[in-house]
Amino acid sequence: MIDHAHHEGTHGSVPDAVVRHCDVAVIGGSAAGLAAALQLGRQRRAVIVVDSGEPRNAPAAHMHSFLGRDGTHPEELLDVGRAEVRSYGGEVLTGEALGVTREAGRFVVELATGDSIAARRVVVATGLVDQLPDVEGLAEHWGRGVIHCPFCHGYEVRDQRLVQLVTHTAGLHVVPMLRQLTDRLTVLVAPGVDVDDAELTTLTASGVDVRVAATATRVLADHEGRLTGVELADGSRIDADAMLVGPRFRPRLEACGGLGLALAPHPSGLGDVVEADATGATSVDGAFAAGSITDPGQQVLSAAAHGSRVGGAVAVSLAAEDVRMAARPSASVAD
Ligand SMILES: Cc1cc2nc3c(=O)[nH]c(=O)nc-3n(C[C@H](O)[C@H](O)[C@H](O)COP(=O)(O)OP(=O)(O)OC[C@H]3O[C@@H](n4cnc5c(N)ncnc54)[C@H](O)[C@@H]3O)c2cc1C
Repeated sequence: MIDHAHHEGTHGSVPDAVVRHCDVAVIGGSAAGLAAALQLGRQRRAVIVVDSGEPRNAPAAHMHSFLGRDGTHPEELLDVGRAEVRSYGGEVLTGEALGVTREAGRFVVELATGDSIAARRVVVATGLVDQLPDVEGLAEHWGRGVIHCPFCHGYEVRDQRLVQLVTHTAGLHVVPMLRQLTDRLTVLVAPGVDVDDAELTTLTASGVDVRVAATATRVLADHEGRLTGVELADGSRIDADAMLVGPRFRPRLEACGGLGLALAPHPSGLGDVVEADATGATSVDGAFAAGSITDPGQQVLSAAAHGSRVGGAVAVSLAAEDVRMAARPSASVAD
């Protein structure tokens, strides 16, 4: 259902702001959001997805470790997913959600276009923002010469000269994985990172070149923009074919701040996640969270699986509510 309303804009009355009514609004239409929407569409739920087109893996040219799609361009999976959602009547809008509020038992999602979505449930699948260490040139190579995870792109840098920047204690846990991928590994532990001496001794004895209190200042590249190494604060350089950096992160909640979703620190100590139970239910009744916003360790496959599960849980909650409403014919959903 669509309502048209006039509203006051900066240049006077602006006609035709549209309010779309649906069962479920999904904010974020990447792996998790689209998988949730697919489940819901197949349960004959009216679902509208809004997506601003910036998935976490956007800088990468290939998506790996996704069974059945390994090595494809990240956007290819989403193209297929959007078509699947639409084939069941779901809408997938390209654009940004600016805010979400709860009014009279419904969620209202305000879109950047001035239109809005009114929905019985909302699924927040907006992912994470990676916070990179402050090293000159690093952001330019993010997702290509600088990788973030041995599972996603470690195989692609096997046997190469690899430098890992460790900027937090959790970073050291990745070293054994990298040692399995290449024997040309240098680990730079930034000053101030609390490291376990016994762990360091074991890693060094296993043949890994670990340098403690080493500050990387600049990522080096050749004239074609390919990463060639890293410069340290003491002026020395280490030649490298690739680097690995485990970022800190924060949930992308700019649009959903008004909902007041409870956050919880992730056990890695690297950032907060949205607190949700096994079904994706959050601290706000009727608001669900899906994908990496609840767990930064999720790869695309696990984010899609989580979205699918959350979409299923939302479908169950709507069906149960409908039964209750049908048994009380005079009541309305907003009661
Ligand atoms: C550089 C890099 C490479 C990676 N490579 C791989 C790989 O090879 N294989 C793998 O399995 N995993 C990989 N990952 C991990 C992968 O990116 C995540 O697991 C996956 O993207 C999580 O999916 P998601 O749906 O939870 O969130 P995301 O994919 O991050 O999607 C969130 C979506 O929400 C949208 N959004 C956010 N806010 C709003 C808003 N206000 N309004 C509308 N839309 C909004 C965003 O535009 C985005 O499309 C990589 C990660 C990084 C950083």
